[in-house]
Amino acid sequence: MPRHTKIVATLGPASSDAETLTRMIAAGVDVVRLNFSHGKAEDHIARVAAVRAAAEQVGRPVGILADLQGPKIRVGKFAAGKVTLAKGQAFILDAACDLGNDERVGLDYKDLPKDVSAGSVLLLDDGRIVLDVVRVAGPEIHCTVRHGGELSNNKGINRQGGGLSAPALTAKDMEDLKVAAQLGVDFLAVSFPKSAADMYMARQLLRAAGGRALLIAKIERTEAVENLGEVLDASDGVMVARGDLAVEVGDAAVPALQKKMIRMAREKNKVAITATQMMESMIHSPVPTRAEVSDVANAVLDGTDAVMLSAETASGAYPVETVEAMVRVCVEAERSAEVTLDREFLDRIFTRIDQSIAMAAIWTAHHLKVKAIAALSQSGSTALWMSRLNCGVPVYALTPDPAAVGRMTLYREVCPLLMGEQHTERELLLADAEQLLLARGVVDKGDLIVLTIGEPIGTPGGTNTLKIVRVGEHQAPTV
Ligand code: PGA
Ligand code: MN
Repeated sequence: MPRHTKIVATLGPASSDAETLTRMIAAGVDVVRLNFSHGKAEDHIARVAAVRAAAEQVGRPVGILADLQGPKIRVGKFAAGKVTLAKGQAFILDAACDLGNDERVGLDYKDLPKDVSAGSVLLLDDGRIVLDVVRVAGPEIHCTVRHGGELSNNKGINRQGGGLSAPALTAKDMEDLKVAAQLGVDFLAVSFPKSAADMYMARQLLRAAGGRALLIAKIERTEAVENLGEVLDASDGVMVARGDLAVEVGDAAVPALQKKMIRMAREKNKVAITATQMMESMIHSPVPTRAEVSDVANAVLDGTDAVMLSAETASGAYPVETVEAMVRVCVEAERSAEVTLDREFLDRIFTRIDQSIAMAAIWTAHHLKVKAIAALSQSGSTALWMSRLNCGVPVYALTPDPAAVGRMTLYREVCPLLMGEQHTERELLLADAEQLLLARGVVDKGDLIVLTIGEPIGTPGGTNTLKIVRVGEHQAPTV
């Protein structure tokens, strides 16, 4: 059985050399993440070239996800690089301040004083420092330190409960989005969207720049949680961005939100990535903690499409070992996952012909206990529908379009395969598909498989045929 859950690995200094990259991909990375919060356009361009070369060498498709920085609000710099804040002391966030000291620090987002008032709670550096706003005077936010500690240059600021007005796409994001479009990335992640409108805008800008990527909304603001339905409708998928989300909604609320987001995404035929601190201790350690193992396994059981690594692979000491550990945990969790297809099926609503074939295929595959489903498709949408229901049978999605292969790298249970030259005669094409699965060793002669195809051959969205065959008994017509 191939692994069903996909692995996203963030690239950085620890994973930029060709050898490490090749080993990570060989170990199981399905999608790499370019984090536009760090590095210059040239770094990302070089990384994409290295990833494509490594993927080619290993012989498996690797998707590319560009993650925009978004309006992460940050404090400015300190004259001394950092200060130590003591509980109970006064401290000022000052939009007009240049270099900070023990008393005040600047802000990169000059409108922050307009967004807060006495009583607001500000969380700095992922919540390690907590400030209570006492009053706002012009550009100055006067605070009292509730939880102190060391505060260094450019640390992030969140407001508890959300409500900051910064737009989701900054000027930098709009430039980065063009780079992502030029690189032909498969996925574009938008940071801190609040509403469907933010996602529509990103999509419009991306299309205008010539990009075809799928759009992933990072759910990390209170407003996005409140508007989850409409944000999902405007996106192709979501990322459970637990880092910032925990700061905004409180860490204890995140596990239940994770389950809800994954469930809603699947119901709406969207994908879900579970992210942040999944294997955090492996930044420094060659083995994960018990809690991390459980966290990854639980995300798999929640039905996530992918689990994501951040600093573990970007700057950690054990990037390859982390991927290996994640693979191990995913595979084991999948083996114990209960297949709930019969129950989920009853609530599905579908009216399209191609979607009906996709549903019929997994229903049949599940009940006949077939070895594999082979979905021959142009765009990959048949494979997406199949993968929204957990039928436990691997879906091999065969397409002549490399862009569709890229998109499908993220779909749970789907193994995308590029098909070369395509026959236009159905039986010849199906025989080719069978040969491809046999050659890859995923089926044997005599195995039962389900095939789906659209006729006339080559029309996107045209899937209208379901066929059940025993491998090796396929009768190709003599033409
Ligand atoms: P980031 O997003 O790593 O870009 O901040 C993920 C998160 O907030 O969890
Ligand atoms: Mn974030």
